[in-house]
Amino acid sequence: MRGKPFYADGLRFSCTRCSACCRYESGFVFLSENDVKLLAAECQMVYADFVKTYCRWVPAVNGAEQLSLKEKADFDCIFWKGGCSVYTARPLQCRTFPFWPSIMGSAASWKLARSGCQGMDKGALHSMEEIQSCLQKRIAEPVIVRKGQNPEAW
Ligand code: SF4
Repeated sequence: MRGKPFYADGLRFSCTRCSACCRYESGFVFLSENDVKLLAAECQMVYADFVKTYCRWVPAVNGAEQLSLKEKADFDCIFWKGGCSVYTARPLQCRTFPFWPSIMGSAASWKLARSGCQGMDKGALHSMEEIQSCLQKRIAEPVIVRKGQNPEAW
């Protein structure tokens, strides 16, 4: 039987708006179907045009590709304009940070992520239920994956 997760008593996190997770370094903001629908509506674009304009395909395992937001030449997120310009429609990956499967797997991975985020282990207490809700949302809204390369399909 598995014991309680390391975050059973909750974890503290409050965004300090340092913007470190939105800019400065190259990274990926992977998107679900729901993310693209919300963002396309926010940008007043149809789905396919939004993907062509703001997204890129990133190589994944077994020759597949995952859909991510583009970034600017300086590595800022394509939607960073002195702040998140699509904040109310921002992707689930952004909304659930730092309660991501890759971070919540162990206390060690939380500690590692904490070294790059000044808001972790500070501020508001988030309950185990709240954290697990974030993890479940990521499962319920998987990232868009395609096999092979067929840009015309988008
Ligand atoms: S979509 Fe908004 S919150 Fe997410 S990385 Fe881009 S600027 Fe930051």
